[in-house]
Amino acid sequence: MTCREVNKLLLDFLQGKLGRAQRRSFQDHLSDCAECKEKVVAHQKTMRISKRVFEAHKALPPVAPDEMIQAIFGDDKDKQKKA
Ligand SMILES: [Zn+2]
Repeated sequence: MTCREVNKLLLDFLQGKLGRAQRRSFQDHLSDCAECKEKVVAHQKTMRISKRVFEAHKALPPVAPDEMIQAIFGDDKDKQKKA
């Protein structure tokens, strides 16, 4: 497998989508190529972090509270009426 192929299959590999033969030649390449191995490790870290962020977000309420929406978008007309 070439570096280019490894790059192309990187995400599939991390998601466990590769077939057994592809997976083996992917790993073979990694044991020979430090550059690609580094890339895979870096991606694995990123995926782990973004998974953690995703899990944290699931704990939040699905809809932002009204005060938050008002604070972000405001309502200029309403403020002018009150002022
Ligand atoms: Zn490589």
